[in-house]
Order: sequence, then structure tokens, then C-alpha cells
Amino acid sequence: MLDFIYQAFPARVLFGPGKVSEIPAEAERLGAEAVLVISTASQRAVADAAIAALGARFADRIDGAVMHVPRENADAALELAQRTGCDGLLAVGGGSAVGLAKAVALETELPIIAVPSTYAGSEMTDIWGISEAGSKTTGRTIKVVPKSVIYDPDLTAGLPARIAGPSGMNAIAHSVEALYAQNRNPLLSMIAEEGIRALAAGLPDICGDASPDAEAEARMQAFYGAFLCALALGTAQMGIHHKLCHVIGGSFGMPHAETHTVILPHATAYNRDAAPEAMDAIARALGAETAAGGLFDLAARIGAPTSLREIGFREDNLDRAADIATEAPYYNPRPVDRDGVRALLDNAYHGRRPA
Ligand code: NAD
Repeated sequence: MLDFIYQAFPARVLFGPGKVSEIPAEAERLGAEAVLVISTASQRAVADAAIAALGARFADRIDGAVMHVPRENADAALELAQRTGCDGLLAVGGGSAVGLAKAVALETELPIIAVPSTYAGSEMTDIWGISEAGSKTTGRTIKVVPKSVIYDPDLTAGLPARIAGPSGMNAIAHSVEALYAQNRNPLLSMIAEEGIRALAAGLPDICGDASPDAEAEARMQAFYGAFLCALALGTAQMGIHHKLCHVIGGSFGMPHAETHTVILPHATAYNRDAAPEAMDAIARALGAETAAGGLFDLAARIGAPTSLREIGFREDNLDRAADIATEAPYYNPRPVDRDGVRALLDNAYHGRRPA
């Protein structure tokens, strides 16, 4: 039976090589006459070019956006936005730059133009987050959804394989969970499956020894997949995989994208019998026999980590991680029980390929 709600955000998306040149036109379309440009250090050159192109529409800049939006950075950015009287925000970079722009939009409702340079996906979601005193507060509001998103695959040319691989697996995780989410719907499932397919098609050539032409094509495919997976993250409710990654990253300080990469095949295996349609879609998208095995093999093929042990997680923390991850109930296709989660974590710790 078809019975669903489909909710989309009103973002305008421009995709293609060279599309970064559209930044001034997008600012004009949004009526932004004084733009605050926010970037990470790695995207400074792109921000420089955008500032030159914006000309009289440029108000000021912040170059040093960092992970997880520290409260003091959010406050400083807000103060600068108010002092300069800017009427638009341009975020150039990964989730860190977009996250800082969202923190400003949360208070000001200024329109954001996002120009992502990683596969993290924040640009297509209504999720904001600010960290303070070791913990992160998050929320969802339409106020922070970028009005215009420019995906220019050329910007990802400098993304090293060691970042691109896990970042791509992290994006795939959004689509995997969207496929078995409680609020899944047929449109979202099509988007999620295609997102996995495109990323799985692109990542091996990005992380391997492809010719320059093949690599450029792979980067375009992977970025297209990242866009689709970001759409999935923006609308679907996440399950056990995201819960575990949140615990392992938040309570034990493990690196975000690498944790996603390691946990994903095992969270997928955990849900195997409870979400058969999702498993078929994932396996189809990967061109693999099984969803969980295919995800594990993709991570191994692109040289990304496949065990918690190799990313520095301590074995004697497995029990505590299982406790924290199961202390509050949440939706997951297979009910979450402590023994099952402890077994999942053991497999992830040792990097066993799911059967
Ligand atoms: P990031 O923006 O910090 O980028 C990761 C690293 O890659 C940084 O060192 C950055 O300088 C570098 N980098 C970025 N683009 C590059 C490029 N093209 N070439 C070379 N180096 C490049 O982090 P991220 O991985 O993009 O995003 C993670 C952050 O985003 C976390 O804080 C996470 O919580 C947040 N996030 C939020 C959402 C949301 O919906 N709100 C979604 C996903 C992630």
C-alpha cells in the first residue's frame, strides 16, 4: 500500500563543473547586496575568487570555520554579521563552513548560498548544531536551510583520497538509513538508491589510480551522489547506525567519517532481516550480492578503515558504548537490544566482514 508524506525544502540547486561562477548571480537573485563570506582554511582560494566576483556585494569574510561550530565562533560570526549589516551569507567549504553560516542564519534568518566542497551534506538539510563545553546542541528549522546550493565538482579536485573515501561512505550511510526509515517514502527511496549508486561508482576511481579524465568523471559522479544522499539526510529519520556513530564519535572522540565507514556494514547487517526491501535496494545500488557485504567490500576497496580497532577505539570501551547506545529507545527496523548491539560492535571492532 502507498501511504506516505513527502516533504521537500525549497532550495535551488545548481550542479556542474564551473558552476561556482554563478555565485554573484545567485546573490543578486536573492537580493543580497552585502554578503558575509564564510569558508574553511582549505577553501580560502575559492573564497578569494568568490569575493572578487561579488565585487560591491562583498561585506566581510571569516576564513577559519572549524568542525562542530564552537559557541564562541558562532557568537563572533553573528556579531560580525550584525556589525557589517550584511543581508546574505555565502558558505564555501564542507560541513564546518555551512554549519557556521547556519548558526548565523538561526538568529538572523539571513539567506545562505552554500558552495560545498565535501560529501558531508549539511547544505541540503534543516539541521544546525553548536558545541559548547564538550557537548553539541542540535535542532532542525527551515530558517537554516540554504536558499541556493552550488555543487561544482571542480571544487572537490583537491579533496585527498583519505578524506574523500570516508566522507563518501558517511554520505552513503544517510541513504542506507533513509531506505529503512520509519518515514521512508517512494520518492526518497529512489533518491537514496541513486545516491548510493553514484557514490559507489565514483569513489573507487577517486581513491585509486585512475587517469585524470576518469578521475574527473568519478568526482562528478560522487558529488552527484553526495547531493542525493544529502537530500535523504534532510528528510529521513535516522536509525541505529547514526545512533551508534553519535555515541562513538561524541562519547569516545572517534573521527566522524571514519566511524561511519566502519559501523555502516554492521548496522546494515543488524537490520538485514527486518528491512528486506532496503537491503535489495542497497545491494542493487552497489552491484553486490548482499547489502552489508557490499558496503564492507566498498570500504576495503577504497582503502578506508574497516575496523574500530584501526581507528583507535579501545576494546574495553565496547560495553560502555553498547550501554549508552541502548539506554533510550528510538525507531529502528529491528528493535534495538543490548546484546545485539554489543555483538554488532564486536564485529565492527574486529573488522569482520558481514556474512
Ligand atoms: P569540514 O568542513 O571540516 O571538512 C573536513 C576537512 O576537509 C577540513 O580539514 C577541510 O579544511 C578539508 N576540506 C574541505 N573541502 C576540501 C577540499 N575540497 N579539498 C581539500 N580539503 C578540503 O568537515 P566535513 O567533513 O565537510 O563536515 C563535517 C562537519 O559537518 C561536522 O561538524 C558535522 O557535524 C557537520 N555536518 C552537519 C550536517 C547537518 O546537516 N547539519 C550534515 C553533515 C555533517
